[in-house]
Amino acid sequence: MSEATEPVRFMQQVISLDYVTKVSPVSRAFGRALLEGRIVGHRCPQCSLVYVPPRGFCPICVVETTDADEVPVADRGVVTSWTVLTPIQYHGQTERHDYALASILLDGADGTIGQQRLTDVPLDRIRMGLRVAAVWAADADRESTDARGYGFGSAITGFAPSGEPDADRALYEKHTL
Ligand SMILES: [Zn+2]
Repeated sequence: MSEATEPVRFMQQVISLDYVTKVSPVSRAFGRALLEGRIVGHRCPQCSLVYVPPRGFCPICVVETTDADEVPVADRGVVTSWTVLTPIQYHGQTERHDYALASILLDGADGTIGQQRLTDVPLDRIRMGLRVAAVWAADADRESTDARGYGFGSAITGFAPSGEPDADRALYEKHTL
């Protein structure tokens, strides 16, 4: 059998995709607060749960939340779970070393925010209950936050250990996976 008649089993091609995302007014307000170095959530007027980032509604009570429900949330909290990623060196990959992404329960929030980069901590020292604080980008580097409209955009580059004692398990237990 010649090479030409072999079935194609694998193809590799580099493509480029541009996304245009419509940012909701709620996300825009969240992004504007980030530019000022603040994290805000929405407190449900019925069940009092605080959502970060705000969604504009409480899915449990099925009620709308608005600017009037905005509450400040701390830029520090507790690691509830994490994943260590080993980057595959595909085209365009800029990561070279293992790193960790964590879910973090911010003080004053009732839900975790996921996919947060952990910095300044050896991978084998990461644990549930570890207290961490946001590492804010310099003011000039926060500009794309509003356009992205989700997560912390470019405003927060990661979370680093705050030096506080580990949190009591009872405080975050229901948020662990
Ligand atoms: Zn609610």
